Amino acid sequence: MLLKELGEFSFIDSIKRDTINDKETVKVGIGDDCAIYTTASDMDQIVTTDTMVEGVHFTLDHMNPFDIGFRLATANLSDIAAMGGYPKQALISIAAPKDYEVKNLQCIYDGIKKQFQNFKVNLIGGDTVSTSGPLVLTMVLLGGVPRDKGVLRSTAKVGDYIGVTNSLGSAAVGLDVINAGEKEFFASKDAFKRPIPQIELGQFLRNRGVTAMTDVSDGLASELHEIAKTSKVHMKIYSKAIPLELETKKWAEITNINPVDFALYGGEDFQLVFTVDEKNKQLIEKHPFVTIIGEVVEGDQGVTLVVDDGSEVPVDAHGYDHFI
Ligand code: ADP
Ligand code: MG
Repeated sequence: MLLKELGEFSFIDSIKRDTINDKETVKVGIGDDCAIYTTASDMDQIVTTDTMVEGVHFTLDHMNPFDIGFRLATANLSDIAAMGGYPKQALISIAAPKDYEVKNLQCIYDGIKKQFQNFKVNLIGGDTVSTSGPLVLTMVLLGGVPRDKGVLRSTAKVGDYIGVTNSLGSAAVGLDVINAGEKEFFASKDAFKRPIPQIELGQFLRNRGVTAMTDVSDGLASELHEIAKTSKVHMKIYSKAIPLELETKKWAEITNINPVDFALYGGEDFQLVFTVDEKNKQLIEKHPFVTIIGEVVEGDQGVTLVVDDGSEVPVDAHGYDHFI
């Protein structure tokens, strides 16, 4: 059925079940002029938003609608993770062509709701309008972080160490192997299709006093530049230390690409990159999903990669054309 056949109100009716995953904090959800929610008095409130446009950020040829919704939720959740925060309430606005297939919109919502269930986020409202342009999905995600403890990008210090969560580059490999029609590489495909925001690790790292943090949505190179620029420091990382999955190394060999490039320029991994002082580094480096990859040093606001033979090369924010 098309959206114009179902109508805006029936569409909203059709998506409003299974939207509340943490009843305690919602007084009024979807259905009134505003939603009403409560907050804890010892928390700062944090808020983020992300928009995805059909034809720019996704197409239905590449991804199924469920995965598109899942990714929209992940992109927003990942921003909350990067502050060390707790995600709480969400709103979604959609601008859809009148002749859009309702089933696809509902599947997008199913993907969003699945990810919200995983992280106990409530969907408490939104807006639905029609457009003569492509489908536009905008999510606003509200959350909390303990008073004055939100972790910024701009507070890295010379002498800190640089760390990352899990591994990097898998999402880029996933997209590559999907485009190439590869049968295997299941873990990489999953990393691309169903990325997981690092909410728990973000909280763990905040608790252990990391000095700066951001999420890896645009590739490690670009995120390191972001910390370097806002903190006015130089970031030095070691090629050998960057955690990569076996599949990434395997695909790099097949395609004759330097495996580290997938991590540096690939993006969409939704992992975290952070800085930490010497004392707190000892508290976190034993964590199985955290790896120290470099140091914050004096110098211009840039990024240097120490390659395997010990020589140092400058890293651009955006590199090789196969990732542009
Ligand atoms: P109003 O005209 O008062 O803004 P709407 O008719 O736009 O109300 O929306 C009715 C209810 O449905 C509100 O609670 C609104 O937040 C919610 N809503 C509307 N569109 C969406 C959507 N796309 N996703 C989630 N909730 C929505
Ligand atoms: Mg409205």
